[in-house]
Amino acid sequence: MTEADNARLVDAARKARGHAYSPYSGVKIGAAVLTADGRVYTGANVENVSYGLSCCAERTAIFKAVSEGADRILALAVVGKSEQFTRPCGACRQVMVEFNPEMAVMMRGVDGFSADATARSLLPAAFKPPELSKK
Ligand code: ZN
Repeated sequence: MTEADNARLVDAARKARGHAYSPYSGVKIGAAVLTADGRVYTGANVENVSYGLSCCAERTAIFKAVSEGADRILALAVVGKSEQFTRPCGACRQVMVEFNPEMAVMMRGVDGFSADATARSLLPAAFKPPELSKK
């Protein structure tokens, strides 16, 4: 990925943040994923009055990409207010690993926070499909 690809993805995540549905927490998160064929899918956090039904921006973007036929996800950008709201939760990390352990993950805060990682580095002991066959 080029710096231009990275900048485009972070910008898409920043714009997606504006679509967050977060009337309960007020927290707004945006995410964007880049697929191997060059397409970008975005997502925002979507809350529900039954809190457990809420979905993070990262999973929203990944599920959109996969459900629309995306092949391989190369990178994900997530933008939040600050570090506290920008590092992906455990559920999102597991979903990232499912679709590409080497997925580049760019975390950016509106306050200037910036960190880069891979899905594998964020969840080194992820639950993996081969573990399902060990009955
Ligand atoms: Zn999450």
